[in-house]
Amino acid sequence: MFQRIRETIDKGRKFLVVSHVDPDGDAVGSAFAACFALTGLGKDASVYLQDSVPYRYRFLPRPAAVLHQFPENGYDAVFVVDCGDLHRVGDSYDALKRKGVLINIDHHEANGAFGQINIIDDRASSTAEILYLILKSLEVRFTSDIAVNLYTAVVTDTGSFRYENTTERAFSICEEMVSLGVSPASVAIAVYESHPKERLQLLCLVLATLEMFHEGRIALAHIAGDMFARTHTNAEYAEGFVEYLKEIDSVEVACLLRELGPGRYKASMRSKNSVDVACVARKLGGGGHRKAAGCTLEGDIGTVKTILIEAFSQ
Ligand code: 5GP
Ligand code: MN
Repeated sequence: MFQRIRETIDKGRKFLVVSHVDPDGDAVGSAFAACFALTGLGKDASVYLQDSVPYRYRFLPRPAAVLHQFPENGYDAVFVVDCGDLHRVGDSYDALKRKGVLINIDHHEANGAFGQINIIDDRASSTAEILYLILKSLEVRFTSDIAVNLYTAVVTDTGSFRYENTTERAFSICEEMVSLGVSPASVAIAVYESHPKERLQLLCLVLATLEMFHEGRIALAHIAGDMFARTHTNAEYAEGFVEYLKEIDSVEVACLLRELGPGRYKASMRSKNSVDVACVARKLGGGGHRKAAGCTLEGDIGTVKTILIEAFSQ
């Protein structure tokens, strides 16, 4: 298994690990774990993330080299983790193709197989789960740094074992990481109970925009740019807000629009049961998973809301 990855690592000396903009727990945890693993194999490894690590993931042990400036160097290979599309890396995605052999490790259904090596499994709970199998086959020693990064990635991507991607393997990986010393309670407190109070102040403003469509099956709320300024927050503070909308009993699809700039909104969509939000996101130029997807929409808030709600009517 994973013969080509093994050969590429054996032959190479210098590696880069990258993940997506607005990094989530799987992006950060998988990128950090991969970097620690490469270092453990005696290689020179760095992580590049366009955006800074969100405050809730700053407790994670981080590799010595985490870059936010696109590196000038070339590499023997670049591991692209948790990116369904190379664009998700950010502004430098095109330049990345010239940095080294691209190794694409991902669990998104619509992954474009943009790498020279592609390890894609859309049944995996998380990219961290695929990475775990790769690291096992490479006989990497699971240090505590690797364990807590992988554990946090699996826990956050499965919504703390609540989503349908929660499989026996997701549990068994986490069980193994706990046996290596990870404390589930400490991770839960760090990720879910260590917010600045401004997050809840922002949430108040956002929940006040809640509207229901299609007999209550779609919940929609939005974050206007000035709400961030009014609460001294930024997009990082709003991670997971869309999940609150899904708590309403009648809701099948929850949508949250976040203003990126004048006339530009990022849509986050979540499905509770059978609606395929990835399909809707793709129609609108985005992507994701059946139950969690997103896209960027252009127009004023009224126009963008209409585009989104109409996409669900077709
Ligand atoms: P979120 O709503 O948390 O930003 O994203 C949910 C899921 O949709 C993630 O798996 C993410 O990778 C995917 N996603 C979000 N926005 C986009 C986008 O603009 N393009 C693509 N291809 N996927 C997206
Ligand atoms: Mn993921």
